[in-house]
Amino acid sequence: MSQTDRFADVFELARTGGTLEGSLPLAAAPRLRAGLRHDRGALAYRLQGRYDERGRPAALLHLEGDLPLVCDRCRQALELKLDHRAAFYFVGSEEELSRLPVTDEPEEPLVGGRRFDVAALVEDEAILCVPISPRHARCAPPTVREPADAEARTPFAALAKLRSGGSQRR
Ligand SMILES: [Zn+2]
Repeated sequence: MSQTDRFADVFELARTGGTLEGSLPLAAAPRLRAGLRHDRGALAYRLQGRYDERGRPAALLHLEGDLPLVCDRCRQALELKLDHRAAFYFVGSEEELSRLPVTDEPEEPLVGGRRFDVAALVEDEAILCVPISPRHARCAPPTVREPADAEARTPFAALAKLRSGGSQRR
């Protein structure tokens, strides 16, 4: 992904129902890279613009790729296969975002724009997919259940908020 096409006008994408496809090299995702075994490879993404059921400018994201992790128990290589979908809708400003009530709808609000950072969104979503303690199936203790999804996400979610340029998420 070049510097010129990591940004997109997401309102235009929603209006036209356009699709943005690309690949984000792991080496170009420094926050994600910090938790990986190496940075060879890339994540394929597809961002499909649309208006959602409530008439809001929105998009569906699909991520695919392998994340080279390390097993927390045996310290051997562990490949995490990503096939991840997420739904978003876009608001016009941070102020608008901060006024939104907290809901349990699956669509997540993001501050959109004409130069929306698609690479940062792809990286954020990939980070959220990385478990706090990655383990091979054979390495997971049989009597202990995997942590709940939300719990597993917490440290990386916190990490995501630290990225420069401020958070687009809430
Ligand atoms: Zn293992």
